[in-house]
Amino acid sequence: MRACKSCKALTELETCPNCKGPTTQYGWSGYVGIIYPDQSKIAKKMGLENKPAGEYALKVR
Ligand SMILES: [Zn+2]
Repeated sequence: MRACKSCKALTELETCPNCKGPTTQYGWSGYVGIIYPDQSKIAKKMGLENKPAGEYALKVR
C-alpha cells in the first residue's frame, strides 16, 4: 500500500487517483477509513472534508 504525499490517500498506484500527486510506499503510518468526509470530525481534523470518501494515512512523512 502507498500513501499520497499531499492528500494522504491510500492507493496501490504510484500516482494519487485523487490529486495526481506522487505517492510513497514508505514513511506513512496509521490508517483511517472515511465514509462521509463532510460529516466526519476526523476528516475535518485532517483537512479531508472536501476529499472523496476512502482510505487515508494518518501521517505521511
Ligand atoms: Zn493525493
